[in-house]
Amino acid sequence: MNAEQSQDVQFRLTKAEKLCQSYRVKLTPLRKTLLQLLYENKAPLTAYELLRLLRKFYPKIEAMSVYRILSFLEKYHLIHRVLSCHAYAACNIPEHQHHPQLLLCEKCNHSEEIETESLKQAMDDISTKYAFFASKKPIEIFGICQACAIKP
Ligand SMILES: [Zn+2]
Ligand SMILES: [Zn+2]
Repeated sequence: MNAEQSQDVQFRLTKAEKLCQSYRVKLTPLRKTLLQLLYENKAPLTAYELLRLLRKFYPKIEAMSVYRILSFLEKYHLIHRVLSCHAYAACNIPEHQHHPQLLLCEKCNHSEEIETESLKQAMDDISTKYAFFASKKPIEIFGICQACAIKP
């Protein structure tokens, strides 16, 4: 990670801390470390990948704790569960409620959260036209990201 990236991670962690304060819950060091791992990784991470990474800092941590932290972070909209790869990605816009839209690269596995107004509109149209009320599970769009597309 370069200086700019680590500055960005710190910025997002501070924002997450402030959000937790406003919800009157604590971003404990353990929760913060897990969140940091997700901020640092461009690809979504599974609970077991997170467990492996967390053990570098907390050698005795068990899988159950990881699941508990994940459900805490999900509850407060700091992360999203990526259903197609049974993994978790950090939320880019935790400060406001939204129906997550994720771009997932099939080559490098990176995920990017986007906010496309027309996609939001399309989801509203679907519920009106088909009387089908979509849950807030992420909309997962697969393809090839720009970085992978320009690689020879
Ligand atoms: Zn989000
Ligand atoms: Zn890619």
